[in-house]
Amino acid sequence: MAIERTFSILKPDATRRNLTGAINALIEKTGLRIVAQKRVRMTRAQAETFYAVHNARPFFGELVESMIAGPVVVQVLEGEGAIKAYRDVLGATDPKKAEPGTIRAEHAISVGENSAHGSDAVETAQVEIAQWFSGNEIVG
Ligand code: UDP
Ligand code: MG
Repeated sequence: MAIERTFSILKPDATRRNLTGAINALIEKTGLRIVAQKRVRMTRAQAETFYAVHNARPFFGELVESMIAGPVVVQVLEGEGAIKAYRDVLGATDPKKAEPGTIRAEHAISVGENSAHGSDAVETAQVEIAQWFSGNEIVG
């Protein structure tokens, strides 16, 4: 499998509970490398753009509110098959359905406050990384 890059967000429910280190430890245990990382506060417009694919869904308003409720940590992760590898360690969107040991099973509060985001495909990873990082901020 090829070396890929994926985009990750440690969401406000994670930063609020001081879980950024605990989640990074789970990421690094899989072998994925954190090749870019910064703590930012998303604006409403940035959150709406980031989750535009969901803008017709009933949970969209709550989703945007939850993403701007506090700081987030945006990251680029690199490794073999990084997109699937990160989705695997994230666990299911609904933490009640997530496998034990995954980030969401261990740390998420609810479907809405599920601690972290991971890109779902190569194309979305490229778009999401470009939204938050310039080339020279990523150090592989
Ligand atoms: N979400 C929600 N309610 C739902 C489905 C999703 O609040 O019924 C939120 C949740 O925070 C999720 C995000 O919207 O992480 C994006 O949804 P998606 O289906 O893309 O899940 P993910 O890719 O994050 O697993
Ligand atoms: Mg998604």
